[in-house]
Amino acid sequence: MKDTINLLNLTQESLNNFFAELGEKPYRTKQFMQWVYHKDQLDFNQMLNLSKGLREKLSEVATLELPNIAKQIFSLDGVIKWVIDLGQNNHIETVYIPEKDRGTLCISSQVGCALACTFCSTGAQGFNRNLTTAEIIGQVMVAQLYLSNKGKRISNVVFMGMGEPLLNEKAVYDACDLLLDDWAFGLSRRKVTISTSGVVPALLRMADTTPVSLAISLHAADDVLRDELVPINQKYPIDELMAACQNYLTAGTQERHILFEYVMLEGVNDSIRQAKQLAKLLKGVSAKVNLIPFNPFPESQYKTSKTATIEAFQDVLFNNGIRTMTRKTRGEDVDAACGQLAGKVVDKTKRTQT
Ligand code: SAH
Ligand code: SF4
Repeated sequence: MKDTINLLNLTQESLNNFFAELGEKPYRTKQFMQWVYHKDQLDFNQMLNLSKGLREKLSEVATLELPNIAKQIFSLDGVIKWVIDLGQNNHIETVYIPEKDRGTLCISSQVGCALACTFCSTGAQGFNRNLTTAEIIGQVMVAQLYLSNKGKRISNVVFMGMGEPLLNEKAVYDACDLLLDDWAFGLSRRKVTISTSGVVPALLRMADTTPVSLAISLHAADDVLRDELVPINQKYPIDELMAACQNYLTAGTQERHILFEYVMLEGVNDSIRQAKQLAKLLKGVSAKVNLIPFNPFPESQYKTSKTATIEAFQDVLFNNGIRTMTRKTRGEDVDAACGQLAGKVVDKTKRTQT
């Protein structure tokens, strides 16, 4: 069989090159993107303003292939989870979270995750491979196809599903490019968020590569505890991470902020002393804090902090002038809450076998 290219992998710039190689004029790119991203048309033969010859050529050399949906699961609170089958016994998960004034899609960037944070279900599974841009964008398309029929829309996209986006840079940045492109999804840079556990060299590159928003999974304000909870901290400690954050805040032409995520683990990172430590670390940083009540999963070793503890922690931050909100747990009944995503992964790191 001849090699074909899945055009969901290509940004506008790459599509321009692709059509140029076929001897086509640049305006073809925009016509094509309108069909795919604005009219949800994935059949080349139905793209009626492309010449018949071009449609035939596209069918020969290219595809528009969405990932396969293995399951679509509806939670009682309106959350929808798609389990996506990537073949070879690998599954990823994508979650839609409707709110009053917006609809957030939480997407995956890798099959599993190699970083093994101790409180994360994905991390407990090991890692198989990076997703392609088409597999990342495919998650948005799958959700959009379903939601647009129901009169709902995706207003925000967050890379907070399975995987560490900054260990899959090229595919993630190209996907961000398409998410922001008016000829594709046309989202504003504030509505697309990359969440990272702190891969510092990639974070330094990200600052100059894509204008999307940034969330940092901090979870502890001291290195001893963070080394334990987020093992990548042993490689890139908090002072290096905060320097990379400052670099992100001053790069780019528009005003930037950072969202710091902090999972609330009972008796581990939720004391008043630790809240004060966090406030001190974030002093002078253009930051917002998101406290995430820990979502348990089978074999997890932690408990969720008590509501009163979370409130007291939040008060310390408030009193230090730090904007803080506690994330509402959604989709818990279908294991779709933060950190509960664990599509089947064929672990190549051998971690799950030890
Ligand atoms: N790898 C990236 C993005 C995916 S995780 C990162 O770590 O940022 C998305 C968010 O869910 C992160 O803030 C992560 O720390 C949080 N999370 C992971 N496991 C969790 C759990 N069991 N309960 C609550 N939040 C969790
Ligand atoms: Fe990976 Fe993020 Fe889970 Fe850590 S929290 S194991 S980086 S997915």
